[in-house]
Amino acid sequence: MRSTQTQLLRLSQGQLNLLESCPRQFQHTYLEQLHSPRDPEHEERQTLGSRFHLLMQQREMGLPIDTFLQADPQLQSWTSAFANAAPEILAAASYRQTFRSSEHYRTLQVQDYLLTVIYDLLIADQEQAQIFDWKTYPQPPNKRKLEQNWQTRLYLYVLAETSEYLPENISMTYWFVQSEGKLQSVKFIYKTAQHQQTAKKLNQLLSQLTHWLERYYCGEQFPQVPEGRKACDYCQYATRCNRLKATSEQMSVTKSSSGVDTTLLNLATIQEISL
Ligand code: SF4
Repeated sequence: MRSTQTQLLRLSQGQLNLLESCPRQFQHTYLEQLHSPRDPEHEERQTLGSRFHLLMQQREMGLPIDTFLQADPQLQSWTSAFANAAPEILAAASYRQTFRSSEHYRTLQVQDYLLTVIYDLLIADQEQAQIFDWKTYPQPPNKRKLEQNWQTRLYLYVLAETSEYLPENISMTYWFVQSEGKLQSVKFIYKTAQHQQTAKKLNQLLSQLTHWLERYYCGEQFPQVPEGRKACDYCQYATRCNRLKATSEQMSVTKSSSGVDTTLLNLATIQEISL
């Protein structure tokens, strides 16, 4: 369905990341819902990660988690490692904390888009607000990359825009709970200058998206990255994009819903809400 004045397209940090790294990849993934065959190992890691998130949410809500822990040694070891490394996060809310919420959902409208974030945990008091995010990746990416990731940029931006906190009083901490059995954290303190940069970048990117969507309705494809970019070597859409380097190694792309013409404008695949 086409975006109109009364319809907003919902966008997440993952969609912004893809849009920025390669608009054509965004088109194939979100507008046309093309997917590569699932990697069972990746699926398994994702399931374990989801269970850890659920466990942390249940614990935060005061629900019993012992049965989960007894049934899963991996979850048990992560939780005890977490309790040792970050007891303040697992502790009950202190009298100073005015707000504490897990799986905290916020939205912000920018242009015709509804930007959506879900904080694994948000803790706030009179002076500061802290966003926490759990990751079950084997290795944390380097700090610079993490800072540039739209998850960091958008999560901080949305909180600053939807609360009374100054950027300098907002932080975001990632906890990596699967890095060789150890926990690692990476913390970002927000700044006004960063907030302004993000606002500018976000508005540019969303204006571009509006422009590309309009062209897409007229039958044009979203732009590709320039030829020779490494991104194409590992991309599942290399065949479709005529960017195939190693003929035998590329994964084939399948349609998620059979019978759907991929040239159709399938914007319904991005969630919409009515105003
Ligand atoms: S093959 Fe290259 S141009 Fe095509 S979607 Fe992938 S990254 Fe973008």
